[in-house]
Amino acid sequence: MLGKRKSLEDEARKLLQTSGVERPPVPVESLARALGIDVRFSPAKEDVSGALIRDGDSVVIAINSAQHENRQRFTIAHEIGHFVLHKGTQVHFDEDFRINFRNAVSSEATNVDEIEANRFAAALLMPEGFLRRDLLRLKPDGSTLDNAIQSLAVRYKVSTRAMELRLVNLGFISPVD
Ligand SMILES: [Zn+2]
Repeated sequence: MLGKRKSLEDEARKLLQTSGVERPPVPVESLARALGIDVRFSPAKEDVSGALIRDGDSVVIAINSAQHENRQRFTIAHEIGHFVLHKGTQVHFDEDFRINFRNAVSSEATNVDEIEANRFAAALLMPEGFLRRDLLRLKPDGSTLDNAIQSLAVRYKVSTRAMELRLVNLGFISPVD
């Protein structure tokens, strides 16, 4: 699993390098379009996040525009993850995949793709190299860890929770709760 995890990071980094993305916020919609994916937005019910639809040469990512912008960005990155990592599936629907974000049961075959897509999304939106650079720049001005996470989340246009998990997973901080 560790090897797999490293390759997810590599895939995300490769995509960023190819597209010349060097700083946050990562333009996920442009990245999708550069991969030949059509990104469409339309409002759907709250528990639907998005979908990846492959039909021959045509690939569409459909995003629920009723959700928060940061959430939409994460969903686009998640669907790009499915596109890059999981060949073959024609239509993939994502309902509330983030419910299992933290305590996902990796032994369930159906969840493995979701965990991988989430890890890819985190790596794409919050690249380790970018974070390392930003963390080194943080001034020791007495601001709390919560404030630091909050300002990084704003800078990367991700949720505070996603940023916190990413920093924990990279070993930059200890779990907060
Ligand atoms: Zn998914």
